[in-house]
Amino acid sequence: MSYLNTRLFINGQWCDGENGKTLPVINPSTGLEIGRVSCIDIAGLEKAVLAAQSGFEIWRNTPAVERSKMMDIAAKNVRERADQIVLLMTQEQGKPLAEAKAELMMAAEVIEWFSGEARRVYGRIVPARNQSTQQQVLKFPIGPVAAFTPWNFPVNQIVRKLSAALSAGCSMIVKAPEETPASPASLIQAFVDAGIPAGVIGLVYGNPAEISEYLIKHPIIKKITFTGSTPVGKQLAALAGLHMKRATMELGGHAPVIIAEDANVQLAVKAAGSAKFRNAGQVCISPTRFLVHESLRDEFIEAMLKQVNALKVGNGLDEGINMGPLANARRLTAMADFTNDAVAKGAKIITGGERIGSAGNFFSPTILADVPLNAKVFNDEPFGPMLGVRTFKTLDEAIAEANRLPFGLAGYAFTQSLKNAHQLSQELQVGMLWINQQALAWPEMPFGGIKESGYGSEGGYEAMEAYLNTKSVSIFTG
Ligand code: NAD
Repeated sequence: MSYLNTRLFINGQWCDGENGKTLPVINPSTGLEIGRVSCIDIAGLEKAVLAAQSGFEIWRNTPAVERSKMMDIAAKNVRERADQIVLLMTQEQGKPLAEAKAELMMAAEVIEWFSGEARRVYGRIVPARNQSTQQQVLKFPIGPVAAFTPWNFPVNQIVRKLSAALSAGCSMIVKAPEETPASPASLIQAFVDAGIPAGVIGLVYGNPAEISEYLIKHPIIKKITFTGSTPVGKQLAALAGLHMKRATMELGGHAPVIIAEDANVQLAVKAAGSAKFRNAGQVCISPTRFLVHESLRDEFIEAMLKQVNALKVGNGLDEGINMGPLANARRLTAMADFTNDAVAKGAKIITGGERIGSAGNFFSPTILADVPLNAKVFNDEPFGPMLGVRTFKTLDEAIAEANRLPFGLAGYAFTQSLKNAHQLSQELQVGMLWINQQALAWPEMPFGGIKESGYGSEGGYEAMEAYLNTKSVSIFTG
């Protein structure tokens, strides 16, 4: 199957890095190199930044209605090209074709939603304290943005940032993932073919630390947005702080799933179980800590085991596959470590816990029961096809456990009681909570975390605010 080498996109041109450096792209289902991605050097980055500045001048002065129309064409391009783009995404990232298609369809939705927001960047008139004064609140695009995105959703991690930025009138340089470069490049092409002017979007790959250090410090770059792990997020946030740059941080999570005494267990297993193994668990909002009322433990484990046994793991390009490989070999090592550590501390393996085969990064969907609180899997984000189960006696106890970790991204709960649902929505320390359903991250809803899961939002109107400066203007008319 064909796969494209990926180049950089600077000032409206696809190009290679001046140093000629490239990195291999590995198919995680086979372990084989399928292509190369060009790497940028510092001289190239400077060109990208200057282009982003000139792109910003053009874009901020493009009427919102025109920006919105171009974004709608980009969304249409994404939909029309989805069947080609998914082949690239599945080869480079591993996820089944159906999941890749769902990602592309969601990308189109996100672009369309933010395209609508471009027309609604309203200011305010605030009643003044005398008749001769007019008080206005005006909104302006913040400026050129640097975005850093990871490999788990190669397109959607970019599209939320890029769509909000474009809608607000900002330009953006995207440092996309070197491991999954071709599908992001196709996304950018969809915008380019929609008529977005040169310089408004840049796409670069290379050494992440070198690129982030250069861009975050650069006086032309006015905002940083990063999705990735909490340790890297803290480093980038510190650098952004040092240079007084606005930042949005979408970081790690460790989502609790509370299955209350009155829960519909079958619904919980169906909703949280399918969410768990989507993208082989490599999702920041993936359900990870299953807190099950003690009376439901056996029923829950039996139903979850049945669901896991029905999963077909394999190459995402093959028909009927529900779960692909892990995106890179680092995750395989991490899964083995989580399993060994949990078992050594007393957890039981209900199923899984092993690598599948020796080619590619396949790991079996894993259920660990009776996991002690000091096991790594109940403290560090697993980011893989693994769930841990613990029981609780009272809802207060479950909420305390859910809130124990420094993370606060997603949470899930299953209960048939309005009283419990109310208590959970008030007391769980998370940025997003889904009750009696699986996660559906629609663009109109805020998306983001609290505590060490980061700050800022990538959905809803809050996502627009991140790309806007506010100016208070008071005019005394005499
Ligand atoms: P990592 O921490 O090395 O990298 C995570 C992402 O950050 C990658 O895309 C990487 O290119 C980027 N990155 C790393 N150092 C950077 C720097 N100095 N400047 C800019 N970007 C930088 O981890 P990994 O092995 O790629 O992924 C494993 C962990 O990352 C997971 O355990 C998970 O917690 C986290 N992760 C989270 C998300 C998410 O959606 N929030 C996505 C991918 C990975």
